[in-house]
Amino acid sequence: MIARIDPEYAEFTLNSVPPVGATHFDMTSPTTSTKTSPDLILRAYELLFASFGPQHWWPGDTPFEIMVGAILTQNTNWRNVSRAIDNIKEKKLLEPKRLYKHRRMIPALIKPSGFYRLKSRRLTAFLEYFIEHYDGDINNMKRTPTSRLRNELLGVPGIGQETADSILLYAVKRSVFVVDAYTRRIFSRHGLFDDNLGYEEIRSLFECHMPRRPRLYNEYHALIVRCAKEFCRKHEPRCTDCPLHTI
Ligand code: SF4
Repeated sequence: MIARIDPEYAEFTLNSVPPVGATHFDMTSPTTSTKTSPDLILRAYELLFASFGPQHWWPGDTPFEIMVGAILTQNTNWRNVSRAIDNIKEKKLLEPKRLYKHRRMIPALIKPSGFYRLKSRRLTAFLEYFIEHYDGDINNMKRTPTSRLRNELLGVPGIGQETADSILLYAVKRSVFVVDAYTRRIFSRHGLFDDNLGYEEIRSLFECHMPRRPRLYNEYHALIVRCAKEFCRKHEPRCTDCPLHTI
């Protein structure tokens, strides 16, 4: 089914592309496609949105649930994360201070998400940080500038760039573009950058060529994940049927 472009994203068109040279990203880098980057980024969004429609990410009832999900989803599928979160909910512990108080239960509760000892340490470290710095309150966190918040999150053991940016975008609602393996796969296959380009450079590339709107970044990342799962698989991509086969 072809979805209509949501009016909320209507401004996000080729006309809104900043001119090359007006950004801080070095568009002359040999690792990127110098002329086609803005068009490709915008056109891909339009095609994906037209084909898939809104994805309603991130699954989670509260910002804290989103944060927990972002930490548990490392190296596993969402079904397993969902089971782990359901276990936490069943014990009525999906609240920062309560979960921290009962942190000894965390390994058993999150076991379905895999690597549960490691993830338990990561989640506990995050809880310590969140409670110590922000009293476990997302509203306190929202008062902190994005760059400082990002540095803080990256300082929490086990929180890497993708997890930090997922928390910033989906829980704190900051305009930070999340780069994952799917982003890298799809856009390197289309020549936007070499597969070995760094995380920060890819993030800058997208952020420099899209309006700074959290809802837009939210939708785009979700669409990329959907496209990679359904079409742009690691082996034998289904290009003929893919919404991006024309770009
Ligand atoms: S499946 Fe093919 S057309 Fe679709 S994103 Fe991947 S490489 Fe591009």
